Amino acid sequence: MNEFRTTCPYCGVGCGVIARQDDASGQWSVAGDKEHPANYGRLCSKGSALAETLDLPHRLTAPKIRQPDGALQETDWNTAMDRIAEGFRRTIEEYGPNSVAMYVSGQILTEDYYVANKLMKGFIGTANIDTNSRLCMSSAVAAHNRAFGADTVPVSYDDLEQADLVVLTGSNTAWAHPVVFQRLVAAKERRPEMTFVVIDPRRTATCDIADLHLPLAPGTDALLFNGLLVALAQAGKLDMDFVHHHVDGFDETLAAARHDAPDIETVAQRCGLPQADLERFFDLFAKTERTVTLWSQGLNQSASGTDKGNALINCHLATGRIGKPAMGPFSITGQPNAMGGREVGGLANQLAAHQGFTPADIDRVARFWQSDRVARAPGLKAVDMFKGLQDGHIKAIWIVATNPAFSLPNANQVRAALAACPLVVLSECVENTDTAAFADILLPATTWGERDGTVTNSERRITRQLPFIAPPTQARHDWQMICELGRRLGFAQAFDYPDSAAIFREYAAMTGFENAGSRDLDISAFAQLDKAAYDALEPSRWPQPADRPAVEPFSDGRFFTPNGRARMIPIHAKGPASPLNPAHPLRLNTGRLRDQWHGMTRTGIVPRLMTHFSEPTVSVHPSDAARFKLRGHQIARLGNAHGIAYARVLLDDNQRPGSLFMPLHWNHAYARHGLVNALVNGVVDPVSGQPEFKTMAVWAEPY
Ligand code: SF4
Repeated sequence: MNEFRTTCPYCGVGCGVIARQDDASGQWSVAGDKEHPANYGRLCSKGSALAETLDLPHRLTAPKIRQPDGALQETDWNTAMDRIAEGFRRTIEEYGPNSVAMYVSGQILTEDYYVANKLMKGFIGTANIDTNSRLCMSSAVAAHNRAFGADTVPVSYDDLEQADLVVLTGSNTAWAHPVVFQRLVAAKERRPEMTFVVIDPRRTATCDIADLHLPLAPGTDALLFNGLLVALAQAGKLDMDFVHHHVDGFDETLAAARHDAPDIETVAQRCGLPQADLERFFDLFAKTERTVTLWSQGLNQSASGTDKGNALINCHLATGRIGKPAMGPFSITGQPNAMGGREVGGLANQLAAHQGFTPADIDRVARFWQSDRVARAPGLKAVDMFKGLQDGHIKAIWIVATNPAFSLPNANQVRAALAACPLVVLSECVENTDTAAFADILLPATTWGERDGTVTNSERRITRQLPFIAPPTQARHDWQMICELGRRLGFAQAFDYPDSAAIFREYAAMTGFENAGSRDLDISAFAQLDKAAYDALEPSRWPQPADRPAVEPFSDGRFFTPNGRARMIPIHAKGPASPLNPAHPLRLNTGRLRDQWHGMTRTGIVPRLMTHFSEPTVSVHPSDAARFKLRGHQIARLGNAHGIAYARVLLDDNQRPGSLFMPLHWNHAYARHGLVNALVNGVVDPVSGQPEFKTMAVWAEPY
């Protein structure tokens, strides 16, 4: 029996998967990898259906070029790459390097990410490369950078299991990160004294393990954590010794919190929570040393998501609950390789290996890559990048393994921007995505089961993703296509990799190159892996090889700021960007379903996964249904200034009155009028550039 170790391609939990082929039938099956430290053999409904997704319908099997009449015509790789290289070269010569862009994805592998970033920032000389991870965790990155001086995740899954109090905020972990939830349920069974607090306007499936659920008013998260900080100070529960030795900004931060949240009555009233519940939460946090606070898109996808992350981190810094086992703030990522993208500089505001755009960092990167063309300033973040397409600043874009016409906010405007761009290149595994309709050139990419590289999960654990099936004859890895463009633009030497192992070695060497961030860690072992050792790489918390003893980040009390001290950030809590008004009286929240992944390219072809929800729905509290004459199982029309969407009404008293919920997954291939992102306003967090997806002001009416 053939057997391969790989990882699930869906969420940021990063579960290890064993793919097996039956000798007699040739059929593939999957099982959880019992030795993988992320899941120890567990899989969720999506992961366990992976074997049923190996034969994707609408597979893109050859390069295609759009003809003057709008039809796509098959071509050969040489012609397609000639056309792309010529388009990029001409655009750069005429309008400069900032007239081209690349938009990549948390779905691609770290090796793909590395060469894309190297080509754009290192050799074309523009930082106009951003990733769809901007939509999922860039506010957490910004919060980490502000507090710790680097984008460091100080908590692991083991810490979560060992904590005495787990606070889950802005996270329906049970559906969005199911195996983490399974681990928490199992931990609670082993230690019934473990306590869980869930903070979410909706009563979600995650509340099944909640000892306390706080259904706060949408957008009041920062106020809640400001209130917690004030309550901790009043109760004398701060670790002033830790603050004195390791933290800056304490006085200003506490003063700002006191201004916003002077007393618990004010916090309870503005968060829309019973005061007694709030008191219980504050008391639990105050008396429980081993506390982990896990947050996700509910906080990040906000016009003030960075502030929300820092309000939460402030409480951990002020209590000294960081850098020790079973405690700390834990941002859990949405996508399988959002973290790998962060490491190699997939975000427009970073260079590679956690370096910024300081003169020293630019010089270091230039010397490592031996290039005098390194970008000198941050590029356009996702939402602004697509505005750049619309206003004509960007005239050529390569989109890699993502579907912005479906997933970006203000989806109708994004479609108009793609239509206006003179050259849109899309590398994809299927040809029926919303974005493919706007592509001038389509390139057939390998996909899960065929790809060969590494991914990094939410606890920063790097794992090999091994190929086990042959791709369509003409499909290429994304790194191969991007290197081909690099060679055709005249940078042959810098993009001459024999395999993904060579890219990984270079990435590891770059991480260690004059990099203070790796001060206690010797990553030379990673930088010297030969192909066989790379293929056999054990899951390791990057950049720490598996055979080295674990070092808890910040266990020495030193952070990555210039003076080595963490920073508390004064937060003045803000509400949602879109105010409610009589014409838009409801708050629309968007999010994931248990059995679907993103635009349903894979999960949508598995019949049993479609039985959970088979069409776009909107969850409505019965009191709102009565108020707006919406009846269960009938179709509702929802709208605002940005667009309109249609969905079937589900009466749901788990909703907070005044709030609606629509899943994000429905694209044009499954439901032409169920696109929730048509209603999303495109307002972004000013620090991180992450858009608000959770608190749209809308109207709703029967259809
Ligand atoms: Fe694990 Fe996430 Fe895949 Fe489920 S979707 S198997 S939790 S990685």
